[in-house]
Amino acid sequence: MDHFEYSGGVLHAEAIALPQIAEAVGTPVYVYSRATLTRHARVFRDALAVLPRVHLAFAVKSNPNLAVLKVLAAEGYGADVVSGGEMDRALAAGIAPGDVVFSGVGKTAAEMRRALEAGCGQFNLESEEEGQELAEIASAMDKVATCTLRINPDVDAGTHEKISTGKAENKFGVPFDRAAGIYARLAALPGLNMRGLALHIGSQLSSLDPLEAAFTKAGALMQAIRAAGGTVTHMDLGGGVGVPYKAGDVFPQPAEYAAMIARVTADWDVTLMFEPGRVITGNTGVLLTEVVRVKQGAGHPWVVVDAAMNDLARPAMYDAWHDFSAVAPTGARMTANIVGPICESSDTFAMARDIDVVARGDLAVFRTAGAYGATMANTYNSRPMVPEVMVDGDKWAVVADRIEPSTILSAERVPEWLE
Ligand SMILES: *Cc1c(COP(=O)(O)O)cnc(C)c1O
Repeated sequence: MDHFEYSGGVLHAEAIALPQIAEAVGTPVYVYSRATLTRHARVFRDALAVLPRVHLAFAVKSNPNLAVLKVLAAEGYGADVVSGGEMDRALAAGIAPGDVVFSGVGKTAAEMRRALEAGCGQFNLESEEEGQELAEIASAMDKVATCTLRINPDVDAGTHEKISTGKAENKFGVPFDRAAGIYARLAALPGLNMRGLALHIGSQLSSLDPLEAAFTKAGALMQAIRAAGGTVTHMDLGGGVGVPYKAGDVFPQPAEYAAMIARVTADWDVTLMFEPGRVITGNTGVLLTEVVRVKQGAGHPWVVVDAAMNDLARPAMYDAWHDFSAVAPTGARMTANIVGPICESSDTFAMARDIDVVARGDLAVFRTAGAYGATMANTYNSRPMVPEVMVDGDKWAVVADRIEPSTILSAERVPEWLE
């Protein structure tokens, strides 16, 4: 459910016709709907309200835009961050440091120090080595780092291999059968307050079954740790709930997710922590683009749009599908390949797709581009950094500027010895 709908034959974001944004800001541009964002944040939060004690930490990496974080902060979300840069954004958006969870396999000593100084609420440790390092750093600063230990439950999330994170061959967490020993050793270190386990088995999950299998394993491990005298007060169940990218696809609803968790965790007696990303922001955005030209080829025509894999990497990286809709469709359909201008064949959004007929100069959108969209953008082929706009009813604003290639060029230097 989102607020990108046709009105008078023209696609709108809430009350704003998309051509108005294209004219003022240019294309490509990400357009976010605040009402959609708020709605998703509330549906997820309200669904989990059936659980006794809950902490929500929005996965900043899915959409780190400051305005997006501001909206989520106001909805009571904390932040799950995976770098010092993401932590700075969360704090800049007004999220309390105590509501920040620091995840990631490669936290540097400098990042750990800064997070401790800022009062970061929880570190999700990904290894015994990381825990030992954090313990030393915290002790030297006369602080105690509150932590969970991320386990690798060795469960196949059934999603794209590049976004699977819970199989034994993935780099994340500690091996399941060594976790209890590592937990006990880390809990004995001064400088650490070990309070639970964390897991996150992957992203864009289309079924709750792998999550249930992983949570069940985590619950058994939690009970084993407690039986051995350890303390567990928090269990961080990660993110991963998928969203439908194709019109008509059916995905688990937040209420079903919550019901499954209520069942699995009924006797856990912990604060349950969550790190949702895509399920909050996926539907919140579209990538608005203009057709540069339609080129006839050996097979289907090539619709060349001014957005490219540097603006929206998911199709090139994960073979991902984004629905494509004309902003002012005529009702006619065509079968075409949709590609960007970048000089490699992976710059392909769709092959042999049934789409609205579009021609040179027409506007169109890639839908469900609010998560892992702008956040992965880059400037490959010396293209501009794609801008972002947020719409709120009949108001809209640029929430991230287009960064022109000239600005990027101005940060480069030719050393004297090359002159
Ligand atoms: C990416 C990530 C998330 C968010 O995943 P979604 O699929 O977007 O919900 C949560 N936790 C961790 C540790 C992550 O790496």
